Formats: sequence, structure tokens, C-alpha cells
Amino acid sequence: MNHFSIGDIRVHRIEEWCGTFSPPSELFQGFQADAWGQHTEEFTPDYFDPVSGKLYAFLQSWVLDTGSERILFDTGAGNDKDRPDLPIFGNLQTDFIGRLSAAGFQPEDIDTVVCSHIHVDHVGWNTRLVDGSWEPTFRNARYILPVRDRDYWDPQITTVGPGLVGTLVNGGMYDDSVRPVVDAGRAVWVDDGFEVVPGITLNARPGHTPGSTVMHVSSQSSNAMFVGDVVHHPAQIYHFEWNSAFCEDADQARETRRLVLGEAADSEALLVPAHFGGAHVARVVRDGAGFRPDLSPSL
Ligand SMILES: [Zn+2]
Repeated sequence: MNHFSIGDIRVHRIEEWCGTFSPPSELFQGFQADAWGQHTEEFTPDYFDPVSGKLYAFLQSWVLDTGSERILFDTGAGNDKDRPDLPIFGNLQTDFIGRLSAAGFQPEDIDTVVCSHIHVDHVGWNTRLVDGSWEPTFRNARYILPVRDRDYWDPQITTVGPGLVGTLVNGGMYDDSVRPVVDAGRAVWVDDGFEVVPGITLNARPGHTPGSTVMHVSSQSSNAMFVGDVVHHPAQIYHFEWNSAFCEDADQARETRRLVLGEAADSEALLVPAHFGGAHVARVVRDGAGFRPDLSPSL
């Protein structure tokens, strides 16, 4: 599924990378082998590779074309980035820009970039290497970024500091993928409730990172929620209490996931997570006190 519509808004999926990532017991905090085993068949092969025993993950961005505005949501890991503590996303050489072009968009066509949160795999294509320095990839765009993540991840500002895992895997990220955008005068720092355009609003859903944001999209009575990493994998729809190893505030991340899944179920919104395989989108259905996913949703 590479294209769908939300009312009048046309959405294009731009894939950057896919592959096996880590065993579920390593990604999920609170992992229970028995509970996982109940879903293994459902998750194979789109979300789980039984040969390696690892989860499948995707890096993918979304272009929302309203007709008057082209919004790029999340920018993957980027090319040429030095990531000594996250080699799987280091020095990538993908044809992301070629795939963007194949979908009908040149980098200069993008009016707005939105990053769901400031993590290494969501800000990478904010910049690209030009003659040895990092330049904004989307030179005509405003870059909308969550201010609560600036205050947490900018090594020149933060007083709290991220956890050890976050510090390692995001090493160098701010300076090569965020600061050049700020220095170019392209960054717009926003907080809860920022309206990108009428019908598209950014709402604070903290926990995974302090600035984690869900983009609510509504058009012609259709709803979608671009949730970033609030939900990494469909197992977390069955088990909203399973955090990823990359959630900074464990208790808040669990509570936010429960809230967001409830919102998606009650508004019948299409759930658009950052890393899902399969159809790459889902719907959420209430099931007793919890939830279950519909991984082949009607669009
Ligand atoms: Zn991510």
C-alpha cells in the first residue's frame, strides 16, 4: 500500500529502508513469551521473520498532499550519517529521494516537514551532505519540530539528559540532522495543539520522548492519526503496556499508548505508525478492557 486518501487529502508512502531489526524479547520492555506466542502466526511474515527470530521494521515517510500544501511527515535515518552506536542505520545509501521523485515530488516541492519526535530514525533526511556539510534537504520547507524534544535532545540546552540507550543510539543526531535546519532559519518549534493547516493538528503525546507528537488528520469525515513511535509494532496494540527499549519515560509511554489506541478506536481513525510492515497502516478495535488490531483495514 503506497497511496491512500483521507477525505480530500492524498497520502503517499515513501519507503526508505526495511529489514529485520531485533528479537521481540529485546525490543519490548515487559515482553512475555507466552503472550507473544499467541500472535506469532498472525505476525508472520509481515511483522516477524521466524528464520532469524527478529521483528521486521520499516523506515518510511508520508507525504500528505492537500492540493495546496505538501507535508512530509518524518524523515527516516538519512544517508551518510555516522552512527557508531547504531550501525544498522549508519552510513545508509538509500534511494529515498529517488522514491520521493517517483511518487511525484522533488525535495523543493515540499512545503512543510513535520517530525513526530527527535530520534535518529525520524529526522535523518532533514539534511543531506553537500560538499562536506549538512544542508537542509527540503530547501523551501518550514520544519515543524516539537519544542519539548529540543529542550531534551539538544546537547547545548538539555539539563535533564536522555537515558543511556537514547544517548548512545542518538549520538551525533542533533548536530547533523537538526541543528543545520535551525541554523538555516527553517525550524519552527511547536507545542501541543499546533495547527499545520486546517484539519491537520499536532498534539503532544509524550512518553516515548518528551516531545512525541501525534498528527491528527481530518477531512470529509475521514480521520487518521500519524502516531510516530507511540506504537512500534502491532503487538503493542494487544499489549499496550509493552514499551519499546527506546521509550524515555516508561510509565508515561504506557499511559500515552493506551490513550492513543483508545482515541483511534473511538474515532475510527486510520492508525499510521512509523515502522509497521504489512499494509503499513491499521485500525484499532476495542476488545474488552484492551484492544486488538485490524491489520488489513479498508481505506
Ligand atoms: Zn522510530
